[in-house]
Amino acid sequence: MLKGKTAVVTGGAKGIGKAIALKLADLGANIVINYRSSEKEAESIIEELKTKGIKALAVKADVSKFEEAEVIMKAAVAEFGSLDILVNNAGITRDTLLLRMKEEDFDSVIEVNLKGCFNCIKHASSIMLKQKRGRIVNIASVIGLIGNAGQANYAAAKAGIIGITKSVAKELGSRGITVNAVAPGFIKTDMTDVLSDKVKDSMLDSIPLKRLGEPEDVANLVAFLASEEASYITGQVLNVDGGMVM
Ligand code: NAP
Repeated sequence: MLKGKTAVVTGGAKGIGKAIALKLADLGANIVINYRSSEKEAESIIEELKTKGIKALAVKADVSKFEEAEVIMKAAVAEFGSLDILVNNAGITRDTLLLRMKEEDFDSVIEVNLKGCFNCIKHASSIMLKQKRGRIVNIASVIGLIGNAGQANYAAAKAGIIGITKSVAKELGSRGITVNAVAPGFIKTDMTDVLSDKVKDSMLDSIPLKRLGEPEDVANLVAFLASEEASYITGQVLNVDGGMVM
């Protein structure tokens, strides 16, 4: 379904990004994963991706740095000849209540999650505009829709991602480029492993489907939005959250 396409997945060495990279590779896309610090994990997923009969490349870069984001997109075109799909997945949390939140806690989360998303869209879209086709999928969060105590920084960044998604969808639609956001709920990854059992149990109470999400639950929707079948869907925010927010 995605044979011959090139997909870039930021933060693709672990968690949700890894599941997305594997799913897009299953559908035939060549994959560029980006990582910042998880070098060993990146090397191992590249080996796994190559066993699927596609081409794969890992690029070390910090998406919050404008020039480094450009390196990722240029590498995709240099190695595989095009850039068809961008998945902005890289993200961090620095959770704490507003009273204790330091300026650097706020800035770092905005810089990676929101500015990183802008940086990658900026560089990828200039390539996609020339190609007159492209799919951009931004990983937001239900927290960007409903807010959460202890996550003012993260909620602001994810709400910002929803804003940039809709704005850029309006700008790029006429050029064959779709831009959508996926808003996961509570997904089992390193990011949520740090939460206490008490917090996890109270989350479960608010999830109608009564289970935490798997990274693959998110990857399945991203793969659909990246496909030809989703060519009439743009500017949307779709939740993958077991019904937590409706
Ligand atoms: P994770 O396992 O902690 O993975 C985060 C990824 O982001 C890592 O691969 C990390 O790479 C990368 N990253 C962080 N800072 C980066 C930077 N400056 N430049 C490049 N890459 C960077 O978390 P996850 O749960 O899979 O999260 C993936 C995305 O889903 C995030 O945007 C997160 O906000 C979102 N999300 C997650 C949940 C959830 O419940 N897990 C819910 C809603 C939304 P390195 O390890 O190499 O630094």
